Amino acid sequence: MVQVGNVLVSFDVLTKPFACDLAACHGTCCVEGDAGAPVTLDEVAEIESLLPEIEEDLTDEAREVIARQGVAYSDPSGELVTSIVHGKHCVFCQKPLDSSSQGSQPTLCAIEKAYREHRIPFQKPLSCHLYPIRVSRFGECYALNYNRWDICQSAVLKGQREGTPLYLYLREPLVRAFGQAWYDELLLVTSELHNQHLI
Ligand code: SF4
Repeated sequence: MVQVGNVLVSFDVLTKPFACDLAACHGTCCVEGDAGAPVTLDEVAEIESLLPEIEEDLTDEAREVIARQGVAYSDPSGELVTSIVHGKHCVFCQKPLDSSSQGSQPTLCAIEKAYREHRIPFQKPLSCHLYPIRVSRFGECYALNYNRWDICQSAVLKGQREGTPLYLYLREPLVRAFGQAWYDELLLVTSELHNQHLI
């Protein structure tokens, strides 16, 4: 790990190739797994306030879950995460959940879709934006690690083809999370590690 400001960054984040290939993976990270995406209380409040703009893009089942338990819940470890349908689909998946259409087109996030259509100012939860980097917080310090998931194999291959390591592919969410000055320092530190053949 290397420390940049108050953030510890694993060498995997600096070296492992990654670039999402939606045509190959169909955005499966939004529909697989056994919990929703981590969210902060501020993000929950923001999403709740934007619900009227995105609700029409959600499935009936997702709307029922949101009506029953809200847009987020605490997972078994106590972490606040987005609500899910059938124990795995994020409620904000826009794609119909019927099996006939599954796999034929990428899963779309209803929040991001509304953002791209300039209907709302919030892009998506930061944890989704940063994936597969996961952030752990220890008081005033943070640690960034690469969360490997076999459904992302196509992203590893695309990252290899394009020569894109995680920290470059995820420049935008890293700047969103920690600021441009921090990211610029990360670039300098990484360049120095390369010069010293440490990574
Ligand atoms: S994080 Fe993984 S599953 Fe999700 S879009 Fe990227 S490659 Fe696909």
